Amino acid sequence: ARARYAGRRPQSAALREKAMEVMPGGNTRTLLSYAPFPTAMARGEDCRLWDIDGHSYLDLCGEYTAGLFGHSQPRIHEVLHATLQRGINLAAVGENEEKLARLLCGRFPSLDKVRFTNSGTEGNLMALTVARVFTGRDTVMVFRGGYHGGVLTFPLSGSNPATLPLSFTLADYNDIESATAVANAHAGSLAAILVEPMQGSGGCIPASPEFLAALRSLADKTGALLIFDEVMTSRMSAGGMQARLGITPDLTTLGKYIGGGMSFGGFGGRADIMELFESRVPHAGTFNNNVLTMAAGCVAMGEIFTAEVAELLFQRGEDLRAQVNDVARAAKVPVCFTGIGSLLNVHFRLPAPDRGYASTADEEALRELFFFDMLEAGIYLARRGMVALSLPVGPAELDHFVKAVTEFCESRAPLLR
Ligand code: PMP
Repeated sequence: ARARYAGRRPQSAALREKAMEVMPGGNTRTLLSYAPFPTAMARGEDCRLWDIDGHSYLDLCGEYTAGLFGHSQPRIHEVLHATLQRGINLAAVGENEEKLARLLCGRFPSLDKVRFTNSGTEGNLMALTVARVFTGRDTVMVFRGGYHGGVLTFPLSGSNPATLPLSFTLADYNDIESATAVANAHAGSLAAILVEPMQGSGGCIPASPEFLAALRSLADKTGALLIFDEVMTSRMSAGGMQARLGITPDLTTLGKYIGGGMSFGGFGGRADIMELFESRVPHAGTFNNNVLTMAAGCVAMGEIFTAEVAELLFQRGEDLRAQVNDVARAAKVPVCFTGIGSLLNVHFRLPAPDRGYASTADEEALRELFFFDMLEAGIYLARRGMVALSLPVGPAELDHFVKAVTEFCESRAPLLR
């Protein structure tokens, strides 16, 4: 499968060679550095992509959840063009910034006030910064297998990578006992508990509601702030997973699709915490209120991704996950799809994992095979096997994916069992 993949993509292979000369790894996003070389895309339209070798694909990667609106949403294109007519970034506050902030505060239960950044990574760094100032404490509890950004990646085993001058302490995801033990051990120094309501990069592993409720009470008991990283999960309803679950964190971090597909990040929460930005905590950034993001974000969140649309998308994803899991069960292969709503990830083990795990070499090989087979079937998804549905993905596209998964489970059954 790897040879077939490489043979059909001479232009992508050549681009990789050239890119390696000027960029370590050949690009600037680690997850796009897979073997033997990544497929390079030339253009997109609605939920379709074309690579530079001329193949076309159904786009189920959805730009790792940021591409919620697809590539050609007419209102987003319109507002981007209109905004450009009025100049590129004006070194000043503008009306769309207030409008987008008000839209977000009106939707997410935890948001009294919000600030913008350029990425989810920065949103998390700023949320941690203000949590540390607010509490006067230094330690942050995070979870094994968690991902909060390019410099906030936490391993499944061992201790923290020395990427940041912050003090992190690791607990096991979905494990109330482990979180309680870590909280007790650091009770006097814990500034924040930072958690994804579903581990996204970790394989679309949902947190149990009991686990998140336990973190809420551990934060209350120790005086730490509870931070939900909803960079990926905010799409699960108009008010994110916090609204679905009825659990309100002190701070929330956001990113991905909220800027209508433009670079976006944000964070916000309780007014008494966020008001520290009026006194003790500086937070600057040339592009924090970039006019394209702010304009597209207002249209995206104000007009397109309404509560009803969010619910429809959620249900579409739930139905799809049930369908592909049925396919795997019927084929009697140890394949399952985890996730919540419109985000899915394939795993090559049963039962469905409830926390991150170190893949075996066999699982890694099957993950690669799944990715290559899907490409061959004309479907582009994340290399790790994640699907992020975007709004233009309709019944015919979902059917295409279910058929491809069926074909994979049946034709590869001897390798899977
Ligand atoms: N948090 C989570 C849960 C994410 O999934 C991501 C991105 N995959 C980030 C933070 C970082 O966002 P960004 O890539 O915009 O920095």
